[in-house]
Amino acid sequence: LVKKKAGKYAKQVAPIQQAAVLGAGIMGGGIAYQSASKGTPILMKDIKEEALELGLKEARKLFAKQVERKKLTTEQMAEKLSHIRPTLSYGDFGHVDLVVEAVVENPRVKEAVLTELEDQVDEKTILTSNTSTISIDRLAQNLKRPENFCGMHFFNPVHRMPLVEVIRGEKSSDAAVAATVAYARAMGKTPIVVNDCPGFLVNRVLFPYFGGFSLLMEQGADFQRVDKLMEKFGWPMGPAYLLDVVGMDTAVHAGEVMAEGFPERMGSLGGGGDKSAIQLMFEKDRLGQKNAKGFYAYE
Ligand code: NAD
Repeated sequence: LVKKKAGKYAKQVAPIQQAAVLGAGIMGGGIAYQSASKGTPILMKDIKEEALELGLKEARKLFAKQVERKKLTTEQMAEKLSHIRPTLSYGDFGHVDLVVEAVVENPRVKEAVLTELEDQVDEKTILTSNTSTISIDRLAQNLKRPENFCGMHFFNPVHRMPLVEVIRGEKSSDAAVAATVAYARAMGKTPIVVNDCPGFLVNRVLFPYFGGFSLLMEQGADFQRVDKLMEKFGWPMGPAYLLDVVGMDTAVHAGEVMAEGFPERMGSLGGGGDKSAIQLMFEKDRLGQKNAKGFYAYE
């Protein structure tokens, strides 16, 4: 895996005038907020009305905090909010410069969504995926224009996490990578260009850590103590709280992709042949903050 400096792609590229995000969940909602907040209008498409409402509610809450802190006036908040256009249809996708796909972490769903999306946009539109772990080459395999596609991996919560991994697939063009780097910068983020592999860079480090934590749980450790100790070690939060933020469903699905990509190193999420502690949480519908119950309970 070779890190490439994003600076290499810093040539003058036309700024993204109109963006779109597919999926209005934790990540899609955050990406829409961040884009709107930095002035790039964004369409936010989901297949569920409730998801669109939740995505908008979250953005409204974040803008309202800025008004409270006197960083924005109510008029500015209204203007920025108007940059997010929720939709259930592909109606206006013909005028979009760049799309970030942020639907569930399932390769088959993502492949189907990307193929469908490609038929709805202009042939110059850049398509990106916010996948946490799925290889970009795998997602590109059924695309007609794989040169227009690369990864754009944000971290959660989007408005607070500076890093964005821009993943260059085998067929991604310099122009697609450069436009994605430029959009990440316009969103106030720090992009890094990485080569393609399951988990890219950050999740190749993070998932073994989750696996280690899961194994500790299976051996009877107390998750709150582990969290407190990892905070004392200097991390901003422990693994149980971080998993609640990520979502147990996303962690399990991403863990499967990592285990498939690196079977000898990742195995399952810590449980060997048995179900891991994280998988058991998922099966008990303890998804984390998204449904208010994970390792911790939320109001
Ligand atoms: P989520 O479950 O919160 O949201 C997914 C959304 O996608 C839902 O609102 C769902 O209705 C919608 N959706 C499903 N099929 C769709 C379709 N065909 N068209 C449009 N919308 C559709 O999930 P999330 O945590 O936001 O994760 C989304 C992606 O971002 C995943 O690939 C995940 O791996 C990645 N990611 C997640 C995190 C994290 O910490 N949760 C961090 C980085 C990247």
